Amino acid sequence: MNLLLIGPPGAGKGTNAQYINQHYHLHWLASGDLLREEVAKASVLGKKVKEILEQGKLVDDETMIQLIRHPIHGLVREQRGFILDGFPRTTQQAQALQTMLREEGTSIDKIIVLDVDDDVLVKRISHRFSCTHCGAVYNMLYHPPKHADTCDRCGRKNTLKQRSDDKEEVVRERLHLYHQQADPLLVYYQEQACSISHIDAMADIAAVQKRIDSVLAS
Ligand SMILES: [Zn+2]
Repeated sequence: MNLLLIGPPGAGKGTNAQYINQHYHLHWLASGDLLREEVAKASVLGKKVKEILEQGKLVDDETMIQLIRHPIHGLVREQRGFILDGFPRTTQQAQALQTMLREEGTSIDKIIVLDVDDDVLVKRISHRFSCTHCGAVYNMLYHPPKHADTCDRCGRKNTLKQRSDDKEEVVRERLHLYHQQADPLLVYYQEQACSISHIDAMADIAAVQKRIDSVLAS
């Protein structure tokens, strides 16, 4: 079985991909990991990726497709199912993936979409603070430190800081980008008559995993 996992940043894609990997033995192919590994290998492709990332640009479709081809080919040859996470992001990538999988004699069997309420997600992420000294993470709404300016774990004062990409406007911008990419992608897969299951990712972890189990069993 081959899965595609779609969801915005902060929806718990990593946690759920890990769950599926452990319980269903599907190989987890995360585009972020593939990019980092390729850069680390310093291959021709890796050098190109490094350059793109250093310029703060998004990796183009052509490069992403090149990057994913080799691992997919290997997994198909070993007859191992996989979970794709972070790829495809555009319909162009999705079309290239369809062609690639058809050539390999396989396909995407199921698509799981982790749905979140944007406002709730923004609230969750934008209230996240971490201790610059010991790394302890707090959520000022759901899990605040006992004293507002003191870290519970290391006891230091005024060390709780927000990561710059957890700021509300940055989170909103990321969500906006996500919808811009994911919406047409889902339209494409609907047209391809792929099985798409929406899961409420705001539910607690056990409930989300139970829904994943029922989707994978169906
Ligand atoms: Zn601390």
